Amino acid sequence: MDTQTEATTPEPTEPPHTGEPLVVLDGVNKWFGPLHVLQDINLTVHTGEVVVVIGPSGSGKSTLCRAINRLEPIDSGTITVDGSVLPEEGKALARLRSEVGMVFQSFNLFAHKTILENVTLGPVKVRREKSDLVRERAMGLLERVGVANQAEKYPAQLSGGQQQRVAIARALAMQPKVMLFDEPTSALDPEMINEVLDVMTSLAREGMTMIVVTHEMGFARRAANRVVFMADGQIVEQATPDEFFTNPQSERARDFLSKIL
Ligand code: ADP
Ligand code: MG
Repeated sequence: MDTQTEATTPEPTEPPHTGEPLVVLDGVNKWFGPLHVLQDINLTVHTGEVVVVIGPSGSGKSTLCRAINRLEPIDSGTITVDGSVLPEEGKALARLRSEVGMVFQSFNLFAHKTILENVTLGPVKVRREKSDLVRERAMGLLERVGVANQAEKYPAQLSGGQQQRVAIARALAMQPKVMLFDEPTSALDPEMINEVLDVMTSLAREGMTMIVVTHEMGFARRAANRVVFMADGQIVEQATPDEFFTNPQSERARDFLSKIL
């Protein structure tokens, strides 16, 4: 064992990346009452980078995603997206939020809208774009995620995997700078997981900046530039997938990996 490389520094170093910083969390803290759920989080995600966030249940991964999208207010620190500090509320927040696409575990499609309407609604209502242009773009996105032939159906008529692919298309329709995925395949039947991961992998290959919370280690190995390991509200370790999976530095990461691999 090389004791010199053993993680002794409190601040884990991140692997180098050539893109510009796009999402920057600086000293972010968040409490839920007495629970210190995000503890001095420093994280920079660069343009074109794919960061996979893993860690035990309750470690703060969802809260981190929600904080980046301002669905959850933070108590201290700053979060910037493409150089702008996320404002607390108002029109500026709505605009910045539309730069961060989010896909959740539950697909959250509008049940009484068609698949196509689900994808066009945001750009038309929130961004006031022209509906014929949006419609064209939406059909292109539905094509890309492989459900264009379902455009006139309603969410309940689609499988879970198809609905989650629509949710990805809906987020992309807002032309976000970064996409957040919070356990996007956890609610899916096993046979549908790969069709969603395949869409995410191709997005990653096309250069989309992505932050992905997932337990799908195959996806992490295939698509991630960096794995961030969280436990108890802290970033314990971060490394390239290869380094992380073959040589995790912390006891907690080793323990976690032994349980899921
Ligand atoms: P993860 O996504 O890693 O499982 P979460 O971010 O969902 O973790 O939760 C982190 C911790 O914060 C957990 O202990 C959870 O119970 C708690 N928590 C999450 N949301 C709330 C909330 N709205 N109010 C109080 N506690 C919460
Ligand atoms: Mg979660």
